Amino acid sequence: MKRILVLFRNDLRTNDHPALNQAGKDGEVLPVYITHARQQVHASDWFLHYQLIDLKQSLRQLNLPLLVVKGDTVSVLQQFVDEFKIEAIYLNQTYIETAYEGDQVILELAKKLAVQIKFFQPNTLVAFHTILTNQNQHYKVFTPFWKRLIQADIIKPTRAPASYHAINVSESSSQEIEQLNLLKDSDWTAKFEHYWKPGETYAHQLLEQFINHALPHYNEKEYPSLDIASRLSPYIAVGAISPRVIWDRIVEEMLLTEDQQDRIIIEKQGWAFLRQLAWRDFAYQQLAVYPDAKRKALKENFNQFPWLKDHQRFDAWKKGETGYPLVDAGMRELWETGWINNRVRMVVASFLVKHLRIDWRWGQAWFEETLIDHDQANNVLGWQWVTGSGFDAAPYFRVFNPIRQAEKFDPDGTYIKQWLPELTDLPIAYVHHPSKAPKAILEQANLEWGQTYPAPLVEHDQARKQALAAYDMIKESK
Ligand SMILES: Cc1cc2nc3c(=O)[nH]c(=O)nc-3n(C[C@H](O)[C@H](O)[C@H](O)COP(=O)(O)OP(=O)(O)OC[C@H]3O[C@@H](n4cnc5c(N)ncnc54)[C@H](O)[C@@H]3O)c2cc1C
Repeated sequence: MKRILVLFRNDLRTNDHPALNQAGKDGEVLPVYITHARQQVHASDWFLHYQLIDLKQSLRQLNLPLLVVKGDTVSVLQQFVDEFKIEAIYLNQTYIETAYEGDQVILELAKKLAVQIKFFQPNTLVAFHTILTNQNQHYKVFTPFWKRLIQADIIKPTRAPASYHAINVSESSSQEIEQLNLLKDSDWTAKFEHYWKPGETYAHQLLEQFINHALPHYNEKEYPSLDIASRLSPYIAVGAISPRVIWDRIVEEMLLTEDQQDRIIIEKQGWAFLRQLAWRDFAYQQLAVYPDAKRKALKENFNQFPWLKDHQRFDAWKKGETGYPLVDAGMRELWETGWINNRVRMVVASFLVKHLRIDWRWGQAWFEETLIDHDQANNVLGWQWVTGSGFDAAPYFRVFNPIRQAEKFDPDGTYIKQWLPELTDLPIAYVHHPSKAPKAILEQANLEWGQTYPAPLVEHDQARKQALAAYDMIKESK
């Protein structure tokens, strides 16, 4: 039987894992995950750590081991090919560059080692480079991409073989996941266990819970206190659940709903949800075509933007001390739980790049460190969208007013008060802009400017004008 090494990356699951499932049909299997030493622990490392433990258990139930090793991909693969007499390497495609070398490097290594290499479908709805315009170009704008995607063949989830044959390895070939010390005894990540439960089975349960309770109300997903969005993002990012399985299950739910009224609702909200899921495919496609997008603005003129290198302001933003309650609540929720909803992500990101005029790459790096669902493609696309530097992005001149956004998306201040307990006693009329509260009200609410809650870091109208003036400079330099 062929001896096959299956390399896991952002696809830490056993269901709908094209490389693993095919390897099980073709020969004896050795599942491997390679991790690199990182200087600083990221929130997503916590999720990764527990997802790896879960994957190891799931594979054990299939009589397969999981070798988890620290090192660089090339040397580890070289060593394993030799040690276990590997004849083929199977892996699902990806363009994400974190924590492992790219597909090209592995392809070249396989040629050098004279082992067969097989790439399988990536962790997306459609294969890379298949959604193209009539002129065979990649789409730069989402809506026509989406229209083409829904006509395309969404990849069908793969079927696992009835049983797997393992390549026998000694326990000493792999380190215990705990010993890898991915979390470096970090106190900060310890609290994530109050908010998250990694695992493949749990990801499927969460999807069912979402379908049963929240999907009919998906149009309200932007309201942070309602908690409607699925929160599947960390599971999708690490690959605990496949986007194809999610797609299939939502479509099935639309077809299964018998009551006509309910069906109209589920179809409408189901398609709205699938459209969001397709944004992820769009993000992966952009990263595949423009791998530099992590470092460079897609719209060239933004690379000349006069960003302010103001570390004090940046620190205030990171800590949730800008004096704008929705921004501060968001940044504090992010630090505490590793997650904020899409609207809050847009508001805090916009405040950084427009009100504070700080480089989007600083914000992107902070999100990379603190988001439990960090996904390179989505994060890059999200920041370029908010900045206005992406091809299909919110124009820079449209500056979110953080007070209006708070009034609209947290009208009764529930979310703000949850994350900013110092504002608990403030009457609703002032909770979105405490700086407008008269002295007597502040006293009653036990608020002291600059002491219990910061005064606004910048004044909205003025910050907006300055942002637009800075934008005029790069508009002219185009
Ligand atoms: C500045 C910024 C940074 C972001 N960084 C990330 C990131 O690192 N990781 C990440 O997964 N998402 C990121 N997003 C996109 C989006 O905010 C999250 O995917 C979403 O909030 C996750 O919550 P959910 O799973 O409950 O979403 P749901 O609304 O339930 O959506 C389901 C899934 O669809 C995908 N999705 C939804 N919205 C988007 C979107 N706008 N772009 C791309 N995919 C989407 C995600 O995989 C998500 O899990 C970012 C957005 C912005 C504005």
